[in-house]
Amino acid sequence: MIIVIDGPAGSGKSSTAREIADRLNIQFLDSGALYRALTFLWIRNNKPDKATFFEILPETDLKTEYRNQTFFVNANGDDITSDIRSHNVANYVSKVASWPEARAFVNQYMRNLVQKNAYVADGRDLGTAVFPDANLKFYMDASIEERARRRFAEMKNSDPNVTLEEVKDNLRSRDQADQNRKADPLKKANDAIVIDTTGKTFEEQVQEIILIIKEKLKL
Ligand code: C5P
Repeated sequence: MIIVIDGPAGSGKSSTAREIADRLNIQFLDSGALYRALTFLWIRNNKPDKATFFEILPETDLKTEYRNQTFFVNANGDDITSDIRSHNVANYVSKVASWPEARAFVNQYMRNLVQKNAYVADGRDLGTAVFPDANLKFYMDASIEERARRRFAEMKNSDPNVTLEEVKDNLRSRDQADQNRKADPLKKANDAIVIDTTGKTFEEQVQEIILIIKEKLKL
């Protein structure tokens, strides 16, 4: 079973999906973390040209695991879970995510994973491009001010020098890039249920989604 939650950066998809996974006792899959991991590896390899990067990428053993509310990412034995959240990675991730080769890599990785377990996954194009036959699709959104405030609070640990304005600018340019790229842009699937989280508490948005899941999937 696969439930997908798409939406722009900072709309609350990831924390909501984690909570839903825990309450329904299923797995959580963070597709953004996979794009971030590729971006981190590309930066660590001194930003090679695309062809070189995808030639060397298969040498990296990428592993993910969800536990204790955290989506752990490991590359060749190194825990890169917090590295992938840095401001530097955030600045380049939309570029890397616009490459069709990166999308093919991440999509294949995710499709392999969901064959083995029940998942709730969050992303941008999961309901449209990756899992068009998902059991249930949500699209979460919130105002740019609210999304920036949430992301800023999240990033203060991994990046103490970052400012709220920088976070807001980064969200704005990522929204732009994600919505306008050629390969699988951020887009609401026709059959996705829209959840606007502006002004809602975390518990309210989680409850709203859980109720719909239980009703629609008869869980
Ligand atoms: O969800 P998060 O903000 O961590 O995602 C990081 C970036 O990865 C997004 O800004 C977007 O460029 C890319 N992404 C994507 N498709 C997805 C998930 C994330 O293009 N399904």
